[in-house]
Amino acid sequence: MRHGVALYLEKVNVDFDGFRALTDLSLYIDEGELRCIIGPNGAGKTTLMDVITGKTRPTSGTAFFGQHHDLSKMSTEEIAEAGIGRKFQKPTVFEAFSVLENLLLAAPKDKTVRKSLFGKLSGETQANIEASLEMTRLGEFRNKQAGLLSHGQKQWLEIGMLLMQKPHLILLDEPVAGMTDYETELTAELCLELKKNHTLIVVEHDMSFIDRISEKVTVLAAGQVLAEGTLASVQANSDVIEKYLGR
Ligand code: ADP
Repeated sequence: MRHGVALYLEKVNVDFDGFRALTDLSLYIDEGELRCIIGPNGAGKTTLMDVITGKTRPTSGTAFFGQHHDLSKMSTEEIAEAGIGRKFQKPTVFEAFSVLENLLLAAPKDKTVRKSLFGKLSGETQANIEASLEMTRLGEFRNKQAGLLSHGQKQWLEIGMLLMQKPHLILLDEPVAGMTDYETELTAELCLELKKNHTLIVVEHDMSFIDRISEKVTVLAAGQVLAEGTLASVQANSDVIEKYLGR
């Protein structure tokens, strides 16, 4: 895919009532990259995701999505519309509805969605749904009630719902937490498949999963970037061992 900078953060600071949660944080992510963010609890991982999605405004610094979207000046809705999608750790699928209905509810505003019970969906929405079902391997469960899906399937459905918005940059917060080894492997395959057409930022603790999917890892600690590089290189970094791994 085309390469350029997908995300450009420079010297971002975030203060909460005098407490500095992010300090001079710089992060550059290329289009088509899959970056893993790791770090101990309280490192600032969630705050960083909140800055990228507009939930938290930087106190100072620069935050751009692509070349033209100044994240520090955009609302969460504008950022989502510009192409950043986030999946939180806890799935928030609509349990009483089917897989298909969940995808429909996540579709961008399309008059044909409301009429779909009686008529036909627009070709584009229909194509989006099929692409989301295929990507998440939920095609055979399209009519199953979401509340009856396994934990892993709910997580994948939520990724499918994100895909309905056609994001360019996808943020995943601990996507394999609570998953079996088999579900974790399927999620790794899903991430690698998504990487073909998207940029991804994945916050995770599971090192073998990170090793499976990521070329480059950013380690945060105390609101700062402690190290960046391949998983093997950051695991061998003495600062990382001292402040994160060597506990
Ligand atoms: P992580 O996701 O890596 O565990 P967070 O981004 O949640 O870390 O938190 C980073 C630091 O900022 C923590 O010390 C946390 O207590 C603090 N923090 C996060 N959000 C707020 C807030 N809204 N008000 C005050 N402090 C906060």
